[in-house]
Amino acid sequence: MHCRLVLLGPPAAGKGTQAELLQSRFGFLAPSVGAMLREQKAAGTPAGLRAAEYFERGLLVPDEITIEVVRQWLAGHRGSCALDGFPRTLRQAEAFDAMLREQEAAVDIALLLLADEPVIRDRVAHRLVCAACGGVFREGLHVGPPSDPCPRCGGVLGRRADDNVEALADRLSEYRTKTEPVICYYQERGILRRVDGNRPPEAVFAELSAVLQNGRAASS
Ligand code: AMP
Repeated sequence: MHCRLVLLGPPAAGKGTQAELLQSRFGFLAPSVGAMLREQKAAGTPAGLRAAEYFERGLLVPDEITIEVVRQWLAGHRGSCALDGFPRTLRQAEAFDAMLREQEAAVDIALLLLADEPVIRDRVAHRLVCAACGGVFREGLHVGPPSDPCPRCGGVLGRRADDNVEALADRLSEYRTKTEPVICYYQERGILRRVDGNRPPEAVFAELSAVLQNGRAASS
């Protein structure tokens, strides 16, 4: 039985980290729409270059671009999936429902990872990303300064263009105005589950696994 999850939450709540764990431990496909957009920008596609005008400033990328990215991904993939950072607007949520209906499927669980603003600011200030493998690391914990090589592949580490104070303020504001309605959308359907994302990744993953395995709401 396949399970379709969406991972919701403010920036740096840990969606990407939990999606990776769902992939490595439970075999979920775990696409990150943000990562796909960054890859498209690096490849110089028209959609990627247009998207970068938004994501580098901390603004949500227009729906028609993100919906198309997910549509293309979904066309080539079947099975349990945990979408990291999609949907982020009501229009995306409705479009995603329609895409899944075509596969006679539906969103089974919407996991809302919550993190407090000081935690978010601290994570963003210390986040390093590998340009080659996309690995995400915490400066001072997994790696030393950004001049260190990627511990996974030896690639070059750097900061995301939108991991700065100004872009973060816009990302938080976009989250409140455009993504919070999506939370209500899934809550009304009775499939929203909240998980406290302030803790270290393994503790969060333990709770998230319990929510999935027992089908019980952590604090909804
Ligand atoms: P993330 O890697 O999930 O933090 O996403 C980085 C950036 O990509 C976001 O701040 C947005 O600009 C853009 N992005 C990612 N997912 C979406 C989405 N579902 N809708 C609109 N923009 C998105």
